Amino acid sequence: MKKTILTGDRPTGRLHLGHYVGSLKNRVALQNDYETFILLADVQALTDNFETPEMLRDNIFQVALDYLAVGLDPEKCAFVIQSQIPQIAELTIFFMNLVSVSQVERNPTVKSEIMQKGFGETLPLGFFCYPVSQAADITAFGAHLVPVGADQAPMIELCRDIVLRFNRLYGGTLVLPEAMYAEFGRLPGTDGQAKMSKSIGNTISLSDDEKTVNGKVMSMFTDPNRLTGKEPGNVEGNPVFTYLDAFHGDKARVEEMKALYRAGGENEKGKPILGDVAVKRELAAALNEVLGPIRERRAEFEKSPDFVWDVLKSGTRRGLERAESVMEGARQAMKIGYF
Ligand code: ATP
Ligand code: MG
Repeated sequence: MKKTILTGDRPTGRLHLGHYVGSLKNRVALQNDYETFILLADVQALTDNFETPEMLRDNIFQVALDYLAVGLDPEKCAFVIQSQIPQIAELTIFFMNLVSVSQVERNPTVKSEIMQKGFGETLPLGFFCYPVSQAADITAFGAHLVPVGADQAPMIELCRDIVLRFNRLYGGTLVLPEAMYAEFGRLPGTDGQAKMSKSIGNTISLSDDEKTVNGKVMSMFTDPNRLTGKEPGNVEGNPVFTYLDAFHGDKARVEEMKALYRAGGENEKGKPILGDVAVKRELAAALNEVLGPIRERRAEFEKSPDFVWDVLKSGTRRGLERAESVMEGARQAMKIGYF
């Protein structure tokens, strides 16, 4: 029997390079060896977008296109729409009893998201509780492995705590999941912020065309102290170099550029030996090389919306079957299978 993977994304916008290195690449690599469920987490997206539910439909479609474009195979992976799986909501309610408010308050990812979104006194309980609901997402599909970005580490920890507690209390047999982090756990934003994120708007999307990518790269944050390009530059913490590490195919060339950038200096014509614009041009070319085939596949699938919705429908059906069988076991363990 193959083991199970659960991962997912909030359909709040198109997927970006952060998703690609943090999670999508791993999913594509693992889809042959695991039974994979990929959750389009529309219920979670509502926790901070509840006023605009109409935006979910198009975003679900766009995210599904992104999945197909990067090479996730719908025969091997079930694309599941979260709101259509009531068992997740059911499990969330039971899990809420096993978590304290202060446990969620301590969660560093939730803490920084609450700050970033500026909820203040209006923080919705639904948003506050999303880590519990995410634990239910993972558990409801009986997932052994969860390939996610490093920002999700506290969520997986919480999920493991809940599962252990559930199994101890009720003699349950919920699967204890493990996280799997990618080599580039967290991609910074084009603005130099710690995380590229749809909500912050500092992204390069997988569906951005060549011109857009070039423009975004040219306006990227670099070493702020390098005014002329002749000063010795900082490579560490410079997102342009983080992206080169993540996406440039020629590692030796990246090392060479790093050395030149660190050294600074000018050539015989008085021009920088390696200016920021030159580095950015090379980065834009590297990104377009990676994104080219993804864009082409995306454009093909975009012509067949019915196919995409069929993929979502059959994936959701497979998800429903799995979640109900896990939930049956959970209800039995809790002795609430009355009839
Ligand atoms: P939102 O701003 O709506 O929260 P997001 O850009 O943070 O969107 P999510 O849908 O929350 O994206 O994240 C889905 C998955 O992608 C998670 O596994 C997350 O760890 C991963 N991920 C998101 N952003 C990054 C990033 N910048 N680097 C690495 N992984 C990322
Ligand atoms: Mg997020």
